[in-house]
Order: sequence, then C-alpha cells, then structure tokens
Amino acid sequence: MLRLDKFLSNMKAGSRTEVKNWIRKGMVSVNDVIVKKPETKIDANAKVLLNNREISFVFCEYYMLNKPAGVISATSDFKQPTVVDLIESRQRTDLFPVGRLDKDTEGLLLITNDGVLAHNLLSPKKHVNKTYYAKIDGMITQEDKETFSKGIKIGENEMTRPAELEILTTGSISEILLTIHEGKFHQVKRMFHSIQKDVLYLKRISMGPIKLDENLAVGEYRLLTQEEIDLLK
Ligand code: URA
Repeated sequence: MLRLDKFLSNMKAGSRTEVKNWIRKGMVSVNDVIVKKPETKIDANAKVLLNNREISFVFCEYYMLNKPAGVISATSDFKQPTVVDLIESRQRTDLFPVGRLDKDTEGLLLITNDGVLAHNLLSPKKHVNKTYYAKIDGMITQEDKETFSKGIKIGENEMTRPAELEILTTGSISEILLTIHEGKFHQVKRMFHSIQKDVLYLKRISMGPIKLDENLAVGEYRLLTQEEIDLLK
C-alpha cells in the first residue's frame, strides 16, 4: 500500500505539493471514485486517474517489435501508422522507438520510454552492433566484403567504420548479413549504393545483445524479458 500523493509524485505527475492540491480539489480518482485525502492508501492494482488521464504504475516499458514495412519509426503521425501505434498493450503514453528503421525496412525495433537506455544504445561513442539481413539486386563478391571491412565512402567526409559482410547466397539476387557498428541515416542502403547495388529487402535481426525473436511474426511484438533488459543496462 502506498500513499496516493506519494504515488503521484513518484510517477512524476507533479511535485508533492502540486499533487496534494490536485487531490484536495477533486481532480484525482481511485478506482473511479474521487478521493480528496492525499494520505489515502492505494494498492498496486488501483486505477488512478488524474484529470481523467490514467497514471500508470508501470514506470518503464520495454518492447521488442518485429516491424512491418509500411509503418514509420515515429511516436505519432496524423496520416500514417507508427511503430508505437502497433504496441496495443502499452500502458505508458511516452513510448518511443530506439532509433529508426526506414518505412520499408522490417525487423527488430526496441520501443521503450527509458531515455537512458535508448541513449546508451544510440550513442555514437558506444558503437553498438546492428546486424541486417538483406536481399541485394546483383552479385555480391569477396571484393565487396573487403571493401566493407575497410570502410567505404557514402557521401560524407568520414568513411563508414569497418563492417562485416557475410554472403549467404550470390546470384542475380544475393542474400547477405551485414553487421555495422554505427547508425548513419539509410546506412545499409547507402553502403550498397556505393558499390552500385540496390537493396531489395532489408530486415534488422539484432541490435547489441538483443536478437529478434524468431517466434514474432511480422507486426508482432512482445515485452523484453528481465534478462534482456539487464543485458542492455
Ligand atoms: N540502413 C538502412 O538503409 N535502412 C534502415 O532502415 C536501417 C539501416
């Protein structure tokens, strides 16, 4: 059991003084009943509304989404579906995707409201590995593998960092795995454009220590396990 005013301030709804005032003014309900005493004790399953907005007990949420093509990596949009819209079971209203995948890219996208964790994964200083599976228009050769391992110009002053290219099949359409250690805009597509090849299909399969769960169909998501969250921290 927890004091109502303490709960609301812990949840960053406002300062302790602010939330006490709101409670006294009748702006807070617990299980659909207006409660005017800040010291009221509530239990962990209570539904707490402040000005009709639910204040969730869940402080941080961590999801793994198998992003489908056609959905944008944003929090909200007037016209297009976003990756956050796909997380129907979300409790928090402040979820965001950790980095971006292009609209036509599929695969692993972490979605959370934990800004510190997102910063750690995205910080250019951390060089977090990202592995992509791709179908490429045309033959991919050992020479391409060497080019990528040395770094390549993609229209910026700096070369890309060394990246590991694994050729799965090669032919008129080739299949590859590419691991990069940075996250420049459209990086994989731009790396292949630099060797005059087009990416036909792109899917992220891992980010740092987290691998896309093979049981997730395209468009499906699940909560990260505590083990996975610990690996990210
Ligand atoms: N590289 C790209 O070109 N696109 C993505 O969505 C991710 C990496």
